[in-house]
Amino acid sequence: MAKIIDGKKISQEIKDELKKEAAALREQGKEASLAVIQVGSDPASSIYVNNKKKACAYVGIRSVSYELPSETTQEELLGIVRELNDREDIQGILVQLPLPAQIDEDAVIRAISPQKDVDGFHPESVGRMCIGEKGFLSCTPAGIIQLLKRSGVELEGKDCVVIGRSNIVGKPMALLLLRENATVTVAHSRTRNLKEICRRADVLVVAVGKPRLITREYVKEGAVVIDVGIHRDAENKMCGDVDFADVEPVAGAITPVPGGVGPMTIAMLMNNCLEAIRSKHE
Ligand code: NAD
Repeated sequence: MAKIIDGKKISQEIKDELKKEAAALREQGKEASLAVIQVGSDPASSIYVNNKKKACAYVGIRSVSYELPSETTQEELLGIVRELNDREDIQGILVQLPLPAQIDEDAVIRAISPQKDVDGFHPESVGRMCIGEKGFLSCTPAGIIQLLKRSGVELEGKDCVVIGRSNIVGKPMALLLLRENATVTVAHSRTRNLKEICRRADVLVVAVGKPRLITREYVKEGAVVIDVGIHRDAENKMCGDVDFADVEPVAGAITPVPGGVGPMTIAMLMNNCLEAIRSKHE
């Protein structure tokens, strides 16, 4: 029986710590604030945006929301981002992805001031993370590091395998594990012998975007399994990239879906919002 790594509980602990810090900063006249921009009304995006606003309200971060129509042009969106970059009362800017087809996501990410890039997607933030300089960390992988540390999982010298090489999860995850002195392997859609590579992992992080792809044949007995995937199956039940029922009996520890990685992403976004004022006033 694996230990269940409770992301809901750990994210709540983090939000409570941040709530205290936000209150202390406010007493010093430093108010954290986040501008959240959503273009169009994709239902999944609306849920994410709402959850982010709720978390802001809980922690004590002022949130300002922009709900723009789906036909918004790239120039209009870039205009709003530039205006927010210049506003003294806005410390963090988040543009909810994905954006409609007429807008180039990379151009929008690059337009956000690196000092307000609370998603950690700007090339400057990524570069800083890569060379170990202070800066905003990508929220999902940073949340996974917190999940592991706060669950007492030792990473130094461990064999960690990350499946997936996306810019928002797989690649930054590998870099952050490396920072913790783990030995890191990144597997992806062109990897040969995926099962064999995964079976070497002490810690297996799965971010493939394929429902229940990872079964027990991919998992070494006693390994820690972190499931980043979020899906709804044919019965509309939430599930991850890992077949939880099949893997749980052989794993040492495992994250559930829901209640694993998901809540950590938002907690780390809140941390980045406070980081924006911590670093501003240093
Ligand atoms: P992505 O589609 O951008 O990347 C998937 C990666 O998996 C690619 O690098 C690809 O090479 C690899 N891959 C695909 N099929 C494979 C296979 N059969 N074998 C090995 N590798 C394979 O996805 P992403 O944005 O990294 O997200 C991954 C999953 O995580 C999705 O389900 C997404 O919804 C979820 N997600 C969750 C959170 C969260 O907060 N919990 C945040 C971001 C993404």
